[in-house]
This record gives sequence, structure tokens and C-alpha cells, in this order.
Amino acid sequence: MRGHAKNVGQPSPDGGMEEFMSELLNVEELFGKNVFNLGTMRERLPKNVFKEVKKVMEQGGELSLATADIVAKAMKDWAVENGATHYTHWFQPLTGITAEKHDSFVSHPDENGKMLMEFSGKELIKGEPDASSFPSGGLRATFEARGYTAWDITSPAFLKEDATGVILCIPTAFCSYTGEALDKKTPLLRSMEALSEQALRIVRLFGNTRATKVTPSVGPEQEYFLIDRQKYLKREDLIFAGRTLFGAPAPKGQEMDDHYFGVIRERIGAFMKDLNIELWKLGVTAKTQHNEVAPAQHELAPIYETVNIAVDHNQIVMETMKKVAERHGLRCLLNEKPFAGVNGSGKHNNWSITTDDGMNLLDPGETPNENIQFLLVLACILKAVDIHADLLRQSAADVGNDHRLGANEAPPAIISVFLGDQLEDVVKQLIETGEARSCLLGGKLMTGVSTLPDLPKDATDRNRTSPFAFTGNKFEFRMVGSSDSIASPNTVLNAIVAEAFCEAADILEKAEDFEMAVHDLIKEYMTAHCRIIFNGNGYSDEWVREAERRGLPNIRSMVESAGALTTEKAVKLFEKFHIFTRAELEAREEVQYETYAKSINIEALTMIDMASKQIIPAVAGYTQKLAKAVLDVRAAGVEPAVQAELLARVNGKLTEMREALAALQKTEAEASAMADGKEQAFFYKDQVMPAMEALRKPADELEMLVDKEDWPFPTYGDLMFEV
Ligand code: ADP
Ligand code: MG
Repeated sequence: MRGHAKNVGQPSPDGGMEEFMSELLNVEELFGKNVFNLGTMRERLPKNVFKEVKKVMEQGGELSLATADIVAKAMKDWAVENGATHYTHWFQPLTGITAEKHDSFVSHPDENGKMLMEFSGKELIKGEPDASSFPSGGLRATFEARGYTAWDITSPAFLKEDATGVILCIPTAFCSYTGEALDKKTPLLRSMEALSEQALRIVRLFGNTRATKVTPSVGPEQEYFLIDRQKYLKREDLIFAGRTLFGAPAPKGQEMDDHYFGVIRERIGAFMKDLNIELWKLGVTAKTQHNEVAPAQHELAPIYETVNIAVDHNQIVMETMKKVAERHGLRCLLNEKPFAGVNGSGKHNNWSITTDDGMNLLDPGETPNENIQFLLVLACILKAVDIHADLLRQSAADVGNDHRLGANEAPPAIISVFLGDQLEDVVKQLIETGEARSCLLGGKLMTGVSTLPDLPKDATDRNRTSPFAFTGNKFEFRMVGSSDSIASPNTVLNAIVAEAFCEAADILEKAEDFEMAVHDLIKEYMTAHCRIIFNGNGYSDEWVREAERRGLPNIRSMVESAGALTTEKAVKLFEKFHIFTRAELEAREEVQYETYAKSINIEALTMIDMASKQIIPAVAGYTQKLAKAVLDVRAAGVEPAVQAELLARVNGKLTEMREALAALQKTEAEASAMADGKEQAFFYKDQVMPAMEALRKPADELEMLVDKEDWPFPTYGDLMFEV
């Protein structure tokens, strides 16, 4: 797999700009070349086999083993022609990242010692990785089942090129023998089916008889930091925890707003160019790129696509960012909060739902009739988000995101919906008079009983502070953390909206006067759930108080949000649509606690290590230097006032630090001795985290006092401004 990708974008040491410019990229040719997509299948599969595959992709069902054998052979031949030696079932366990175990195509040699590369339909369709070491929240123990991976035929296989060689990756779902989902993909696929079924009932009510499927689409914007790899390697906290655990603020932060959308530096530009090429080859439509708010922070957004593919592609984006960064001597940080005091990173999950005859249900449309459907859809979404705000919040919970949500940079931990002035006005009229007769911003005015105003797109302003914002023809869920999988948020979104659609359809299908019934239902839903609408500044303290007054939940941490998974309301929702069983939900709650406890434990141990082996010795050395200076200066006959005062201050902070270190050591030991579970996770949050903060404080103060030469690792300034 050679070609354009090799060193593209990196000016050669002597070649300069001329060589830099000489490699022309043919993006059209490049795009999807590492994907076994429909086009490749059409070329390589017999017609009838291709037809069967396409049918299963579109309508569901299973491939016959005979067909699977033919597909597997074609896939293997294509992969081997492109340099592949291994294949893997690529899956998404509850760790939130992807997992792979490589198997080569090598088979038993014949009697002459000749070997043929082989890959069967059975191997394509089903795998049986030893899955005992993945988090399962006790599911596997309960059911004594092994893990199986099953090909998700709707997401294409692809070739991953790295130091291991070329690997054929087959996107799969990961289940136990008895069918419990052990991953994030299976429930997502189930939620897509539920949403499709219920949304079809809604569009049928409005006379659409052609649509056979409704699909959620997602465009996830991905934020990330890039820092110098050599500096990264000097910081244990970045290595072990993915974020800094110590660090005084640099003299400059993000206050000048000079990084956001600023000119992209050469080194970063070369990274972005290389990243785009790798992503395009993998069929990921990398589209926008820019510098973000914080120094050293950037963003990439692909074009939206069907949600399960968007989930896979977002995993590929994260993986590829890390890989390409290494090639450029950089390190990509996906943690939600790598640096205190400047913005952290998130993922904006842009979500819409479209029928297979091309209608976006979130498009206000141009005719009143479509408007009524849109307003019903909107009313259902408001209801869903209001009732299940806790679940949505939970779906965006991960360890790093606790430092972001509600910290004046990301949406608060309170779920609310931004509609914009125009839509909010329509909702208000509907609630007050049962009719919306006018429309702000000069939209058309219609008359008649069931008439609703025409809603021009883009009439809404932007509100960056809202966690769930309507943006013209989609909702943007902005709470998701940058390192997290987008599978859970979308599973929840699909599920809660499916439930609201189902309840609305149950009523409307039975109605004698549909027009009246739909009118009443929209009014009823909007009246009951308008408390979730908030167009103001979500970062303000007033909103926190106002939300409390409205009774909206404000769930500040990952461990406090985990319980949302197993409320009776949640179990009822997910069981009704066969997305999760109670056992699967309990397992997921358990995994949340375990993950949290383990992560904080690693952070605490890392701090202990850095404090005792790096910071304290360095500061002790510095006090020695100061003490010597005091003596020397005094011996020279002048009073060393500044040196002595500095020595006293540094020594005082050092003592403080030593005490805080001892306290953290004690608390950490207590925490790790506890049994796994909810209580332990809460102990980490309520006891260990504050002890970590107490250790950080004197250390950061010392960093401001100690000679830069003596500080044992790169500072915020070094990391963020010297990339
Ligand atoms: P901004 O940062 O201004 O919000 P971006 O261009 O960075 O916008 O990202 C917007 C994302 O929303 C892109 O991934 C885009 O493809 C996606 N998007 C656009 N229209 C839709 C839609 N109808 N459904 C889902 N996602 C969409
Ligand atoms: Mg963007």
C-alpha cells in the first residue's frame, strides 16, 4: 500500500517547498481505497451474491453460509492484493475504545509445504475472541457465557495500515453466547431498528406510504490537543492518565482568542494533511479542520452519515489521530481536560432522522402540512429529552468529562433544549392559544384551524452554551466527551425518541379526527415539557438556579449519573424496545463504577509518584541551592533578604506538599482496599479526588516559585505554546 500517503505534506529536509508542492493529491482516487465498499463488492462478487448482500444490508436478515463463503473469499483476495496478511473482528467493548485480535490468513501447508491464504464465510460472520478480560459488569459471570463477535454487515470492512502491516478489519458486534450485548454496538443497532419502526408509524400518519425505513444520521465534531511527543514523554501524568495532574497556568492562556480559527501552524498543518489522507483512504469524509479555543487545541468534523457507521468512523478518527501524531513527532491528547484553566475537548453529536425516501424529520419544511409533522416530531423530542434528561446526561458521562461539564466552557451538567427565538415563539403560541398564527423573523403567515407557520431554515441564532440545540435541521448534543464513544449517546437518543413516537402513534392511530388529535397532542406535549426549553446563557449561575426551580436534574458527576441506567423508567424504556435487558443495564452501571474507580486510582498513584519522586526531590534540591545562596551572600557581607524569604516560602510549601502527599497516600490505600462497586466509586469521588486537589495546590504554587531549570518536567507553557 504505497502511493500518495508516504510522507505527503512533510517538506523534505533539503527539498524545501518545491518538493512539498510537487505531490499532487488525487482525493477522488484516494477516497475509500482501503474500504471493501459497495463499489468494490459490485466489482468482485457474482451478481446474485452481490444482490443478496445488498438486501441483507438494507433490510436485515442473515447471509447464507454459502454466500458468506463467496463474500469472504472476495474480501480476502481484495485484502491480500492490497498487502493484508491478517484479519480481525473489530469490536467495541465497554471500554469505550475498540478491540482487535489479529489472525493471519495463513493455513495448513499441503504435503509439498505450500501454503494458501484462506478465509472462510464462517470466519467472516462469527468470531470467538477470548473475551474474559473485557469489562462486562458481571454479565459473563452471571450467564457463564463466552463472547462472540458477529459481523455488522451494514458497516463496511476496511484495511488498517500500520507497523503491524495491513490488517483487514471487520466491524462486528460483541455478544455473549446467550445474546447479551457485551459491547456498545449491539444496543446501538437495536435502537436504530426501534427508532425506524416507530418513526415509520409517524410518517404513515401524515400520508407517507413510500418510506420503508427511517435512519438516524450523525456528524460528530471531534476536538483534540496536539503536543510535542518528546515533552509528552517527560510527563508521567500525560502518559498514565492522559491529562496533566499538576501544572501552574502559563502566563498566557486562551484569553486573547487568537487561537480559535487562527492560522494553522506548519507542523500542525502537515499533521492535518496526513490525517485527512489516511481518513479519506478509509472512507471517512474528513471535511472541516480548524484551530479550537485553547492553545494547541484543534477540531475535525466529517460529513454526517448513518449513525452506526458514524460511530465506527469516529473510532477510526480517534485512532488515526493518535497514529498520525506519532509520525509527526506529536502526541494527540483526546482526554476531555488535558490542562486545567483552558478549554477541554468535547464532541458535538449532530443528529437527525431521515426516511429512505429522503425526508429529514427534523426539517421544518416548506408546507404547513410538513410543519405539523415537524411540530409533532419536535414535541415528541421535547418530551423524550425532558423525561429522560438523566439518561442523556449519563450517556455523556466519562471520567474526563467530569472536569468539563459545568465548568464554564462546556454545557452544564443540566440538560436543556435550545430552540432559537423563532421556534420558541411558535411553541409559546401553541401552548397559549393552541395555534401558532404568526411566525417571527418574517416567515409566512397561514390561516385556518390547523395552520401552522412556515419555518424558514437558519432563522435561528446559534447558542453555544446549550447542551442540546436545534440547529436548523438537526439537533446538536454537545455534552459528549472527546475521548468517549458516541455509541451510547446515540443509543439513548434513538431509544427515547422511539418511545415518544410510539406513544404518540398509539394515540393518533386511534383518533377519529386526526387533525384535531394531532393539534391537541402537540399542545399537550409542549405544555407538559416546555420546562426543558432554555434559550439563555447555559454557562450562567442564574441558569443553575432557574433549572433547579424548574425541577430539572443537575447531575454533576459520572458516578452520580450511573444510577440513571437502572431506574424503573429506564428499564421499562429499554426493555420495551429490546435495546437493553435489565441485566445488561445493571452490568453497564457496574462498569461505570469500576471504570471510574480504576481511573481515579491510576491518577492518584501517578500523582503520588510524581510528587514523591520528581517534585519533592527537585524542590528539596532547590532549597539547598537557596540555602547556600543565603549563606554565601551573608558571608559576602550583605543581608540576603530576598533569598531568605524565598527559601522560607518554598520550604513552607514543601512541608504542605509532604503533608498532602501523606494524606493522599492514606486515602488512596483506603479506597483501593474497598470492594468494587458503587460505594467505592463514590469514595474515590468524595475522598480521593479532594485529596488529589489538595496535593496539586502546593505543587502548582511551588512551580511558580522554583527556578525553571530545576522544575522536573515541561510546564503548561512548554506543552501548549511550543508545539
Ligand atoms: P459547526 O462547528 O459550525 O457546528 P461543523 O461543520 O464543524 O459545524 O460540523 C457540523 C456537523 O454537522 C458536520 O459533521 C455535518 O456533517 C453535520 N451535519 C450537517 N447536517 C446534518 C444533518 N442533517 N444531520 C446530522 N448531521 C449533520
Ligand atoms: Mg465545528
